[in-house]
Amino acid sequence: MFRICCSRGAVRPARAGTGSWRSVAGLLLIAALLGSCAVNPVTHESQLSLLSESQEVRMGGELYPLYTQMSEGLLQDDLLQRYVQSVGRRLAAVGHRPEMPYEFNVVNSSELNAYALPGGKISITRGLVSRMQNEAQLASVLAHEIGHVAALHPSAGYTRQVLAQVITTAGLAALQAANIQGADLIAQGGQLVTNLTLMKYSRDQEREADELGMEYMVKAGYSPQGFVQAMQLLMDEKRQRPGALEAFMSSHPLTDERVATASQRAAQYSPAQRAPALLKQGPFEQSTRQLKQVKPAYQQMDQARKQLSEKNYPAAVGMLRNATAQAPKEALIWTFLSAAETGAGQKRPALEAAETAVRLYPDLFRARYTAGIVAFQNELYDQSLGHLQTANRLVPGQPQVIFHAGRDYEATGHRDQAARAYYQVLQKVQQGSMAAYCRERLVQWGYLNPRRPRRAY
Ligand SMILES: [Zn+2]
Repeated sequence: MFRICCSRGAVRPARAGTGSWRSVAGLLLIAALLGSCAVNPVTHESQLSLLSESQEVRMGGELYPLYTQMSEGLLQDDLLQRYVQSVGRRLAAVGHRPEMPYEFNVVNSSELNAYALPGGKISITRGLVSRMQNEAQLASVLAHEIGHVAALHPSAGYTRQVLAQVITTAGLAALQAANIQGADLIAQGGQLVTNLTLMKYSRDQEREADELGMEYMVKAGYSPQGFVQAMQLLMDEKRQRPGALEAFMSSHPLTDERVATASQRAAQYSPAQRAPALLKQGPFEQSTRQLKQVKPAYQQMDQARKQLSEKNYPAAVGMLRNATAQAPKEALIWTFLSAAETGAGQKRPALEAAETAVRLYPDLFRARYTAGIVAFQNELYDQSLGHLQTANRLVPGQPQVIFHAGRDYEATGHRDQAARAYYQVLQKVQQGSMAAYCRERLVQWGYLNPRRPRRAY
């Protein structure tokens, strides 16, 4: 527990720097109402935090499954998941907030990224782990994220973001532009329309997390050289394929100065602390054996996704069929195969691919969403509705999911339920063919006044 009252002078002005005076005033008012100021466990300074520790844990617990879905779900590799969890816990135990209920997972995104949510929920992507060569590199990234949690960075930032209700307009725009009949709506399925965005840390916060991260990893018995290696790996990637690092860069700005500081800091440790054995290559190789096996299939999937976005469906189908033959247990690859088959007009193979994905990973939003649309296209409305209801449970309130559930209701003669779904869609999306469809039906059925369609809901 670290709740005490902080004086207004302790509030760092930079924290509210992106908002207007009104939002600053609003934050202060809410802070006063909630009365939650916190002492930073690292600096021992008091600072404005709108979250008490229990609120922080609760918020992290609620956001974690949603962020995991946004990052393409969990990598289905129990050995690797347990391994990352154990490395993370070892690091968290030597940190400044060992009592937090830390959790670590590997999400299936091909991007190179890692992020921490309030309360110590930390994710690293398959893309990043599959670029690494030893446990110390993995430990450095996890320790850096633990450093953010220890210094209360996510709590302060998410508070601001959640209150500001940041909407990812890119996802919304893509959805409005998508054709409701086509495969592009399936391809957009992973771009959830959501107010979840990744934390953007300041340079000072990055420096602090780097410093804490290296301290923790050395305390946990790793060579600090792993930290330098991981940074160099990210810098190389930034030069060669800047696109893959976009999310990482937007949340953890990576600069030459950070890399130089890390090397200088690592060089100050004793030769014994920097012994090559402390990079722990062996355990890492053992635990990433399955990941190495599926890596080429995922590389094919990434190439196929480019073809998909250019509507080059037969090429995408070819690559994805190859990829599923190489790695037949990866639900995400089957899901993209389903989208590609749909684009190529192959309704039945599309359904089979989607059903395979659902069977392999029943709680993957993208798989359920795709299976829902593909079943609808095969006129299997009850089956479609079942998948969409599960999708809506995994990530609630997505307009494209509600829209297709509405179409299932409409196709089976449940007009009231269909109308309710279309009405919900119009509350979230006002433009594009999906919204036009909903408006037209509601007017036609007498639920909306055609002369004042925009005001009637
Ligand atoms: Zn960071």
